[in-house]
Amino acid sequence: MILVRDIRLPLSAGEPQAFEKALHLARIPRSKAAHLGVARLSVDARHGQPKLVYTIAVTLKDEGEESAYAGASPCVAIRGKTDLSVQNGTQRLPHRPVVCGLGPAGLFAALLLARQGYKPIVLERGPALDERVKAVEHFSATGELDPNANIQFGEGGAGTFSDGKLTTRIGDELCGFVTEVFLQHGAPEEIAWKQKPHVGTDLLR
Ligand SMILES: Cc1cc2nc3c(=O)[nH]c(=O)nc-3n(C[C@H](O)[C@H](O)[C@H](O)COP(=O)(O)OP(=O)(O)OC[C@H]3O[C@@H](n4cnc5c(N)ncnc54)[C@H](O)[C@@H]3O)c2cc1C
Repeated sequence: MILVRDIRLPLSAGEPQAFEKALHLARIPRSKAAHLGVARLSVDARHGQPKLVYTIAVTLKDEGEESAYAGASPCVAIRGKTDLSVQNGTQRLPHRPVVCGLGPAGLFAALLLARQGYKPIVLERGPALDERVKAVEHFSATGELDPNANIQFGEGGAGTFSDGKLTTRIGDELCGFVTEVFLQHGAPEEIAWKQKPHVGTDLLR
């Protein structure tokens, strides 16, 4: 993905103008672009007339060509795909691997194990989601807490009742891997380029 930053436009400008300027700055022929999206939009009101400041994300039809545009302008940055390689052990496991907890950590641990050819067993103390939702509604209505089925415990883990913010400040390249897995499982495409991506409670559940 190519990010074109610091695209300054008058307040009256819309996304089409921002896309045009991004392609112009990065010297990308329009015919080569597969997708354009707004990664970030802010207003700079510090000097005279306020300006819209866009960051535009561009994906090329041939993603292999993207690095060639890195030097087109200081505003251009390339965001590559995460190369996640796992080092396998040398001895055969005597039993199936066991993952404890079906929150995000457990889900991704189980996914990686499965992709390596294992058949992980996931142990989860709480119930499946439908039952969990009922337990949370019951708690809201009566104040009676089920210690195994609540906002924290059950299928999906602690974030299942969140609004699905995917922002983090850790800057780890594995964040790209997590994003790719969400996309493979039906998350909205925009989480790939938005600065503050979000999946929404309706999709989480
Ligand atoms: C209301 C709320 C909103 C949130 N919103 C966001 C957000 O928008 N964005 C964001 O990035 N983060 C958010 N978070 C934080 C995020 O949910 C956590 O960082 C994340 O869930 C941690 O993942 P985890 O897998 O380490 O642990 P958890 O999600 O806590 O998963 C642990 C799992 O283990 C199970 N478990 C516990 N004990 C046992 C046991 N003895 N045996 C078997 N299973 C067990 C639990 O039932 C649970 O399913 C939110 C958290 C909450 C509570």
